[in-house]
Amino acid sequence: MRGLAPLPAHVPFEDGDLKFRDEFGAWLEDNLPAAPEPAERRARYEFGRQWQRTMAGAGLTGVTWPSEFGGMGASPVRQYIYYEELARVGAPDFPNRPGLALIGPALIAHGDQEIQRRYLPGILTADEIWAQCFSEPDAGSDLAAVRTSARLDGGSYRIDGQKTWTTAADLSTHAAVLCRTGDPAARHRTLTLLLIDLDQPGIEIRPIRTATGDTEFSEVFFAGAETPANHAVGGPDRGWAAAMTMLEYERGDWTFTDHRPLFAQIRQLWAAVEAGGTPAGAGDRAGELKERLAGAWMRAHQLRELNISVVFRRAAGVPVGFWTSPVKVVWAQLNQQVQQIALDASDLTPGLAGTELGAYLKSRMSTVYSGAIDIQRSVVAERLLGLPRASGDRPAPKSATPGGEK
Ligand SMILES: Cc1cc2nc3c(=O)[nH]c(=O)nc-3n(C[C@H](O)[C@H](O)[C@H](O)COP(=O)(O)OP(=O)(O)OC[C@H]3O[C@@H](n4cnc5c(N)ncnc54)[C@H](O)[C@@H]3O)c2cc1C
Repeated sequence: MRGLAPLPAHVPFEDGDLKFRDEFGAWLEDNLPAAPEPAERRARYEFGRQWQRTMAGAGLTGVTWPSEFGGMGASPVRQYIYYEELARVGAPDFPNRPGLALIGPALIAHGDQEIQRRYLPGILTADEIWAQCFSEPDAGSDLAAVRTSARLDGGSYRIDGQKTWTTAADLSTHAAVLCRTGDPAARHRTLTLLLIDLDQPGIEIRPIRTATGDTEFSEVFFAGAETPANHAVGGPDRGWAAAMTMLEYERGDWTFTDHRPLFAQIRQLWAAVEAGGTPAGAGDRAGELKERLAGAWMRAHQLRELNISVVFRRAAGVPVGFWTSPVKVVWAQLNQQVQQIALDASDLTPGLAGTELGAYLKSRMSTVYSGAIDIQRSVVAERLLGLPRASGDRPAPKSATPGGEK
C-alpha cells in the first residue's frame, strides 16, 4: 500500500446525495475566498466570519436546521457530505461553530418562538458569535455541580459566578450560560440555561494563555450581569435538557468527518518520511516511523467506519445515544497518536510545516474537551458492552452524558 491513501469507503449514497455532493462541491470551488487565511487569530476569525456570511447568503449554513428556521433541512447523510466537501476544498473554519452546531439546535429544540426569531438568524450569518459557558473551576465532567448563580430581579436575571475554559469568549458577542437557580443539592433539577449579551457591565473576560502560546479560551467572570427573564431556554430550572442537547451535538455534526484530516496527515507524513530517508547514524528510524504510520492508517479506517455507522444510524431514525462515545475515544487517541508520530518524525521531515510541537501540544487536549475520555470509556464499557460498573459511587448514566458528567 504505497502512499497510504485511504481505502475507498463503500458508502451507500443515493443518487440525490451524489447530486448534492457534486453541486455543493462545485459551488464551493467557485466561491472559496481567493485570499489566503490570515495567521493572526482575530484576523482569521473575521475572515471566517466573512466566509460564513457568504455561505449564509447562498442559503448554505445551518445544514441540518429545518428550513422554517432558515436552515438547509439536510438529512444526516447530506450533512456528512457537506462537511466532507468543506474539508475536501480546504474551506475556512466557521467562527460560529458553537452557535451553528450547539446553541442553534438547542434553541430549535427547547426555545420559544420569540427567542428563536430573535437569535437564530444572527447565528446563521455569524452576525452574532456564541460561546458556551458551562465549565467552572469545580464543575467540568461533573457538570451538575455548576455554582454560577442566577436570581430573578424584576424582569431580569442577575448572574454571579465564574466560568472557565470558554472557547473564544473574547471573540464572542453572546453566550449560553448554565446557571444555578435553586438548591444546589437538587443538582441538575435547579439549573437554568440563560442566553446573555456579553457586551455589558458585570462581565469580565480574561483570556487564558496555553502552552502553545494561544489564547483560545478564557475565564469569564459575572458580577451582576443581566439578561431578560424570558431568555431562559426551555424555562426556569429546565436548563439541563437544553444543555444535554448541546452536549449531544458537541460530539456530532462535523466530528463525523474528523477522520479526513487525519488520513491526509498520515499520508503526508508517510510521503515526507519516504522522501527524507534516514540520515546516517539514525538507524532504521524511517522504517519504525512507517510502521507506526501504518498502524495509525488502520485505526483511521476504524474511525471512518464508526463515523459512517453513526451517520446512517441517525439517517435511519435510530437514536445515536451512546454511540458518539466510541467515536470520541477512537478519534482522541488517534489524534494524539498521529501528532506524536509527527513530532517524533520532525527531524526526518524538514519539508513539512514546522508546527509539529504546537499540534502535539494541542492534541493533548483532545482527550479532555467535549467529554473527557475516561468517562467516554466508562460509557462504552457499561452502556454499550454491558460490563459491570467500575465503582458504586458514581450516579447511574442517564443520557449520552451520564449523570451530569460532561
Ligand atoms: C480545548 C478545550 C476547549 C473547551 N471549551 C469549552 C467551552 O467552550 N465551554 C465550556 O463550558 N467548557 C469548555 N472546555 C472545558 C471542558 O468541557 C472540561 O475541561 C471537561 O468537561 C473536563 O472537565 P475538567 O477540566 O474540570 O476536568 P475534570 O472533570 O476535573 O477531570 C479531570 C480528570 O479526571 C477524569 N474524571 C473525571 N470524572 C471522572 C469519572 N467519573 N470517571 C472517570 N474519570 C473521571 C477526567 O477524565 C480527567 O482525566 C474546554 C476544554 C478544552 C480542553
